[in-house]
Amino acid sequence: MQTYDLIVIGGGPGGYVAAIKAAQLGLKVALVEKGQVGGTCLNRGCIPTKAILESAKLFQKIKTASKFGIKVADPTVDYAAVIKHKNQIVTKLIKGVEFLLKKNGVELMRGVGKILERGRVEVTNEKQKSVLECRNIILATGSEPALIKNFNIDEKNILTSTAFLNLATLPESVLIIGGGVMGVEFASILASFGVKVTIIEALERILPVEDQDISKTLEGLLKKKGVEIVCGIHLEEIKSETGVVARLADGTTYQAEKALITIGRKPNIEGLESIGIKLVDGSVEINEKMETSIPGIYSIGDITGKYLLAHLASAQGKIAAQACAGQEAKINYDAVPWCIFSIPEIGRVGLTELAAKRAGLKVKTVNFPYRALGRAKTLEAEDGFIKIITDEQNQKIVGVHIIGSNASELVATAGLAMSAGLTPEAVAQAIYSHPTLAEGLGEACEALFGQAIHF
Ligand code: FAD
Repeated sequence: MQTYDLIVIGGGPGGYVAAIKAAQLGLKVALVEKGQVGGTCLNRGCIPTKAILESAKLFQKIKTASKFGIKVADPTVDYAAVIKHKNQIVTKLIKGVEFLLKKNGVELMRGVGKILERGRVEVTNEKQKSVLECRNIILATGSEPALIKNFNIDEKNILTSTAFLNLATLPESVLIIGGGVMGVEFASILASFGVKVTIIEALERILPVEDQDISKTLEGLLKKKGVEIVCGIHLEEIKSETGVVARLADGTTYQAEKALITIGRKPNIEGLESIGIKLVDGSVEINEKMETSIPGIYSIGDITGKYLLAHLASAQGKIAAQACAGQEAKINYDAVPWCIFSIPEIGRVGLTELAAKRAGLKVKTVNFPYRALGRAKTLEAEDGFIKIITDEQNQKIVGVHIIGSNASELVATAGLAMSAGLTPEAVAQAIYSHPTLAEGLGEACEALFGQAIHF
């Protein structure tokens, strides 16, 4: 029987990063993966959506080329080629991850992994069933779209994001059920390609967990692009007929060629309770070291139900690998940045204004507009702002919310400032290159004290 220091089950951004990190720390590691390495993120999540998004943005940019003094004849979308381009990127990255695993000496085992008990993992594939022994296990089995009852998901007309990403042709119209992160990302992509989009969101606003200023601004910009947004009403039923028909709680109906369901994901936790792993609200309970209720079994990523983010899964993976190698480390969950790749983008780190107030903080806020930045003008990207939220008592930044071009890149600096505990003065004192959007971060902090130069 083979014995390992560590067996990782699931090769997504949590699992493969944990496996490589553990191998770098000198452990003998096997990674069990039932599909392709890279998991949801690489195969049917972050990367495919961003590849298609770039095509959509380019299409939009070409359509506005005359603003920049460039004449282009009527551009059209070859959607099959868009999907082919996306698939090529995914294939290259899968090969890259396989190469990295090999280079670091991680043994990649194809098959379904199942924990039999602490220190024993069964791996089943078409050829064989084998049992491996190990000192530690990291569970990183991720999540899948939740198949909600009454939504009649048939993956033909009523689709999950996974099936939607592989449609061969662009539909003329799409109902997006759920106005969360995935909903607004797909709405931005589809509307840019000229698809008629309707978002149906049960709560009072799209992006209900984001800062109100941010979701209100995105709502306005999506509407300007022609997206219809219906909030505050439940979907009663959705049926696949010639296209799809959705009936809302007030009896109103909406029709479209396809529907995309972007409500909820379900952690892959099958069989864990029966071996004694404690779950909380359907996710695996972990401590600071990422260890579950069973010593020697760790868990990371989407199945731990923190934020469903690839980079958090990877960060947790590194902590778990270090714990398996006898090292100590922990995550500051307050400074985890995240991005929404809508058009324009959103970047966030820390508390919303409402959450800060609810936590009893005396907050001071400022919204610094993109239009005050020279770089935004040259990019023809003046929509958006940088919102800084500070705690007046200790002068610490407690939240940064950015909507606008390249917000996903800008928020990294804000995350660094927050994890280093920098004050707004310190962020304002740093020197930012000109002309850049990053200048906005410094000026937003100056604006908190009424000292911005350009606003
Ligand atoms: P996963 O990536 O789900 O990987 C789990 C792996 O485990 C899979 O490969 C699966 O095949 C394997 N597995 C499961 N069970 C077993 C078993 N029993 N044996 C062997 N293997 C098994 N996050 C971001 O941060 N940024 C984004 O832009 C972003 N965009 C997204 C867009 C979409 C459409 C979706 C759906 C998600 C997006 N996410 C994004 C979320 C991100 O994909 C996840 O948070 C991330 O993939 C979670 O990583 P993970 O390692 O926990 O699990």
